[in-house]
Amino acid sequence: MKVSEQPIKKILISSCFLGERVRYNGVVKPLVNKLLEQWKKQGRLIAICPEVISGLPVPRPPAEIDPNTKKVITIESIDVTEQFDKGAKLALRLCRQHNIQVALLKESSPSCGSNTIYDGTFRQQKIIGEGVTTKLLRGHGIKVFCEDSIEELAAQIEN
Ligand code: SF4
Repeated sequence: MKVSEQPIKKILISSCFLGERVRYNGVVKPLVNKLLEQWKKQGRLIAICPEVISGLPVPRPPAEIDPNTKKVITIESIDVTEQFDKGAKLALRLCRQHNIQVALLKESSPSCGSNTIYDGTFRQQKIIGEGVTTKLLRGHGIKVFCEDSIEELAAQIEN
């Protein structure tokens, strides 16, 4: 008798971790990690950059979340909240398409941060908080991890 196989658990991942040129400043910065290599080979990774998929360009002006209004504002004082919300919704849609329950997203980004974000002053000051995409995903039960909690994520996906 054929033993039925469990479908592999997929992981939503920030595109920039895979070395894609999506970061605001256009600098490529891959995350080098053995687990990541393993997951890549296993076909577990579903990549997205919420900011680029929303239509924002590379490079683009840095943006931070205003802690009072919760709006996402660029360093040039342009309100890009709509684009950030759109990117978050597209990330959630991707999770649903692939039945994804866990995500590995870049810490401190105004989209992807899961423990900290910048404080809205563009002075490189971090505060406790989460990015727009992380917030939406968590609101729908998806667990979000960052580069510092990759081992915890690994424990979640053991099939
Ligand atoms: S929005 Fe997320 S995926 Fe895109 S560059 Fe920023 S941290 Fe990386």
